Amino acid sequence: MICIKCGKREAVFKGLCNECTWESAVVESPGSVSRIICPKCGAIKVGNAWSHNHSEAHWERKSLETFRINEPFRITGREVVGFNKRRDFIDAKITASLDGDIREFSFTIPYSEDKISCPTCNKITGSYFEAKVQIRGMTGKVTDKMVDAGKKLVEFVENNRTRDHQSFISKVEDVKDGVDIYLGKRKDGDTFAKNIKAREICSVVISNTLAGVREGKQFYRFTYMIRLFDYEPGSILFVNGRKYIFQGTNANGLNITDVEKGRDTFVNRKGLDLTKVTATGEIAEKRRFMVISRNNGETELMDRQNYSQTTIKGEITDDEVDMFILDGQLYKARGE
Ligand SMILES: [Zn+2]
Ligand SMILES: [Zn+2]
Repeated sequence: MICIKCGKREAVFKGLCNECTWESAVVESPGSVSRIICPKCGAIKVGNAWSHNHSEAHWERKSLETFRINEPFRITGREVVGFNKRRDFIDAKITASLDGDIREFSFTIPYSEDKISCPTCNKITGSYFEAKVQIRGMTGKVTDKMVDAGKKLVEFVENNRTRDHQSFISKVEDVKDGVDIYLGKRKDGDTFAKNIKAREICSVVISNTLAGVREGKQFYRFTYMIRLFDYEPGSILFVNGRKYIFQGTNANGLNITDVEKGRDTFVNRKGLDLTKVTATGEIAEKRRFMVISRNNGETELMDRQNYSQTTIKGEITDDEVDMFILDGQLYKARGE
């Protein structure tokens, strides 16, 4: 059958050929489009919800969904091509199909934009928090280890934030003996505490307080008190009542030297109760000695500072050696 309109081509739909059918295509476009954007984080309100990730794409899909086309055509693509300079119009491209034959339609539509702070940014501004991570050390002083741990927590939360906008830091507070970091999401505190416990020698104490009622449920705030083992090598410690020189840590525990017996020991972190560790506040001086001679299980050393000579038990194979000095006694420094 030949097209009843043009009389030239084969009819494909209701007596009309392909071309004559396309001439009947009517695309209905929305009168205008608008968007609400958070000036702080760039989130876009799509419908009733705020979109934080891929928000541009969500908004585009939602605001172009009111494009319609008459039968027998089908819309196969909706795309914002661009904005005009003043950002009061958008160019949209609609693609439609008639049995796989694709045509494009262009539209210019009035556009408006509003800037409103999103609920998450309002929480951050309002210092909302679900968890507080307190990073502390053993000596009451702020140490590099504590600063590093704080930085790691900030990085961790910022990384989570790229996927989950509920992850945020609402406050970082330097306190006399450490740092307090307030988190928007409790789970971040939980995960961080677990990670640091696996990585560092530290104790973690978790507590909570009832902070009110939210959405009909009791709402608790959690505190993660992380105490890092941050004594410096040479520190004099009492571990389970015995006196030691702290030599250093490795991934599994502490290297310490028994002051009375002069013997090196290793304390596995798994069996270590930090509440049983106390410090005298004293730090043994570390000095470098030259090895002069060694024989019969003894080594003769010379202090490089004052040239005084001492004999110690054990044969030291190196030419030089670092020793801790405590109450006139020498103890080999093992290094971290
Ligand atoms: Zn025709
Ligand atoms: Zn925001």
